[in-house]
Parts: sequence; structure tokens; C-alpha cells
Amino acid sequence: MSAAGTRLFRADRALPPDVTAELDRLVSRIRSCRICRDTPEGKILPHEPRPVVVASTSARILIAGQAPGTKVHLSGRPFTDASGDRLRDWLGVSDQEFYDPALFAIAPMGFCFPGQDAKGGDLPPRKECAASWRAPLVAAMPQIELVLAIGLYAQAWHMGKMTSASLTDTVRNWKAIHAVSQAPKVLPLPHPSWRNSGWLKKNPWFEMELLPFLRAEIRAGIGRVGSKAMP
Ligand code: SF4
Repeated sequence: MSAAGTRLFRADRALPPDVTAELDRLVSRIRSCRICRDTPEGKILPHEPRPVVVASTSARILIAGQAPGTKVHLSGRPFTDASGDRLRDWLGVSDQEFYDPALFAIAPMGFCFPGQDAKGGDLPPRKECAASWRAPLVAAMPQIELVLAIGLYAQAWHMGKMTSASLTDTVRNWKAIHAVSQAPKVLPLPHPSWRNSGWLKKNPWFEMELLPFLRAEIRAGIGRVGSKAMP
């Protein structure tokens, strides 16, 4: 996979030029990042890095996922897989809305596909990535009002002490987490992978209680972009 295949998306509708330029520079540096190939903390990434991030100067919602899988690594576009279909259903948005960088920023905890273990499961996101890029990227998008923290890694980073010992307990505590978190608000979600279909069956409150709230928050966030971007 060549570096030229890397894609990052950005939109310039809402923030002042200095903030836009700062995000632009940061996106450029992420695009050329080769830390996990050239100076990794552990094993060398077994393929050419291909960071997949959607940065935005207007989106009110940041989707904080885990790391690209094989399909996303090939497409260079986030959530171009069955997990993405389920996530878009959870959010109640069309493909067009989901991939509009004016509406959604999308930044997994590891920007590049981390490779697979011996059983064919995806490895965890590369630690180097959040350590190098996450704080500056989040700081460069100060307009974000809601972070969707998908999975343990994003929850640990974005929620700190509000994270419980288990993912189920963390997600079950979503009302309190959303109420307490500030600038931005945070909502914890499980990963939308098919591997979590059993979890969804065991926890019907997720679809009955959390999803209606989530969809209302998403509509409100999209609406606030629309009112600012298209007065
Ligand atoms: S995973 Fe992150 S730190 Fe590692 S090469 Fe990709 S962009 Fe760089």
C-alpha cells in the first residue's frame, strides 16, 4: 500500500483561519507519519502505514473508534465495512451524512490497520498513535461537542476515571457519563462489530434506551452545523 493511498478529509466552514491552518498542518503530518514502521515501540507494523482519519473544522461530533480493519485499510475510508453499516444504523444517518466531513470527524485510537494475531483477529490499536497524535488532534478541533467513545481504548482515553472495569458497566452508565462530562460531552458505545451481536442481545436496554438518545443527539449536532454553516 503506498503512502499516496492515504486519505484524510477536512472541511473549512466554521473556525477562524488560524485554527483551520493549524489543523491543516497537523493533518499533513499525520498523513506522512511512519512511526510504527520506522521507530516503533514494539514490533514493526507489518505493512506500509496508511492513516485513516477524518478531521473537521465544523463537525460537532467526533467518532472515536478503535483502528481500521482490513477492509478500511484497503479502502482508505473509515467504516467501509459491516461495522460501519451497523454504526450508521445506530446513529440514524445516511452514508452521505456519515461521510460528510462537515458533519462528522472520525478518529480511531490507532489511525493505521495494526495487523492481525495468529487467530486472524485484529491487533489492538498501536499505542504510538494516541501518544503521538491524539491530544494535538483533539485540541485542533475545539468545536467538537460530543465524542462517541467506541470500545475500551477510546473510552479509556476520552473518559479516564469515568471508565468502569468492564465495557458493559461503562456503557450501562451512559446517562451519568453524558451528564457529568463537559466540553465535549462523551457517550460510550460498544464496538459495532458483528462479534458484539451476542452482547447486543444480552443488553436490550442499549437499543431501547441508549440508541434513541444517541439519535436525537446526532440530529441536534448535525442541525447545529447546518445553522452555522448555512445561515
Ligand atoms: S498507527 Fe499512528 S503512529 Fe503508527 S504509523 Fe499510523 S499514524 Fe503513525
